[in-house]
Amino acid sequence: MIPVQGYNGAQVAVLGLGRSGLATARALREGGAQAICWDDNPAARETAEIEGFICRDLHKAGAFDGIASLIVSPGIPHLYPKPNPVVRNALEAGVPVDNDIGLFFRSLATKDWDNYDQPPRVIAVTGSNGKSTTVALIQHILESVGRDSQMAGNIGRGVLDIDPPGDAGVVVLELSSYQTDLARAMTPDVAVFTNLSPDHLDRHAGMGGYFAAKRRLFAEGGPDRAIIGVDEDEGIFLAGQMSMGAADDRVIRVSASRKLAGPGWNIFVKKGFLAETRKGKQAASIDLRAMTGLPGSHNHQNACAAYAACRTLGLAPRVIEKALASYPGLPHRSQTIAEAEGVRYVNDSKATNLDSAAKALAAFKKIRWISGGLEKDGGLEQLKGATGNVLKAYVIGREAAGFAMQLEVEAEVCTTMATAVEHAMADAEEGETVLLAPAAASFDQYDNFEQRGDDFVAEVTKRLAG
Ligand code: ADP
Repeated sequence: MIPVQGYNGAQVAVLGLGRSGLATARALREGGAQAICWDDNPAARETAEIEGFICRDLHKAGAFDGIASLIVSPGIPHLYPKPNPVVRNALEAGVPVDNDIGLFFRSLATKDWDNYDQPPRVIAVTGSNGKSTTVALIQHILESVGRDSQMAGNIGRGVLDIDPPGDAGVVVLELSSYQTDLARAMTPDVAVFTNLSPDHLDRHAGMGGYFAAKRRLFAEGGPDRAIIGVDEDEGIFLAGQMSMGAADDRVIRVSASRKLAGPGWNIFVKKGFLAETRKGKQAASIDLRAMTGLPGSHNHQNACAAYAACRTLGLAPRVIEKALASYPGLPHRSQTIAEAEGVRYVNDSKATNLDSAAKALAAFKKIRWISGGLEKDGGLEQLKGATGNVLKAYVIGREAAGFAMQLEVEAEVCTTMATAVEHAMADAEEGETVLLAPAAASFDQYDNFEQRGDDFVAEVTKRLAG
């Protein structure tokens, strides 16, 4: 645990008592603060009370009297589409609103660090897609060289739940736009921006607000190194903003789609080979094509970002190459779960937005595509032209018919996963791929994308066994 610093003897309110909220309350207590907790869900409050935390209805007038700060969980809107009433109550009372990320950055460094040979480093990863994969890759590479490293944030443990890092320890954080939008302190040593495509637009009042939220990690954080995917205009803009000139190698530009020829520090993939250039000289070249844990150009982008992060820590290209080759992949992200009679089965349930689904559709050929669910704002426009590898779509979700109508390929309304899997398997022939890449959220039928992916795996496994 990272005891929270700066609030000894103070009262700090915690809104949202899920995994990160409870970890925050504990870390506040450890740092000598009194956590005043609230969650609209009585069961969550009960869990907190069992741990000895005080719960107080923070909707009430005067609830923020004497409170030093309000810490908000990422799932709770702090501004758009409109502020949660408790957040508004705090803001109207003039109480600073923050989150666990802000507390983490203010509390990480301790006096012990004075005795370390090398202070710990924090690598923070943001972007629309590929955050978890990039974080897991960095962690995998660091583990492979025996470096003390922990993953936290949206992956692994809550940020305040990790062990205090030791000498030369590394903390790799996955940060969502909700988190970077609100944190009052963000000072990573290395910040990574993977890419940007429309997602969560309701929480940011559109694309500009979404980009601004992610940009805060760089603008406010002042990282020593900024690793930036430049395959979209926003990335190019951000890289330009962060650098003092073309040769400034505090910015590492990453591309999965083109050769980068600038005089600075560049890492890109061309024809399946990762190349690193710095000051105009090639430093490394790695063949990614046969790395089974990293299928598709989207994963090559993640490999570049992870490679860059590890290079900033001084790891040699050959060492990173070896670790990339043994990366096993994360569940629900382009994960091959079975191969039978020449048909490959891939679970990409995490493809909840259009860009990630489009990337999955580009990574495989001859696809029997299971898609659908709770549609994101903005419709399916962005899938236009992305379905060239699809033989047929098998559409799930409560609004499957409406979803199917918008697709440019033959689409069958299956509604349930069981029907979709059954029909896709019946149709699939040797050399084809049955791919779950929904291009939609899961909440119309499942609690989360993991449950949806597990359902897919269970349906496939059951039918292959029977
Ligand atoms: P995040 O943590 O940002 O949601 P994940 O690594 O969990 O990212 O991947 C989310 C989804 O996006 C998965 O469907 C995955 O296959 C896809 N994906 C992974 N990396 C990228 C990328 N660089 N660009 C686009 N899509 C990606």
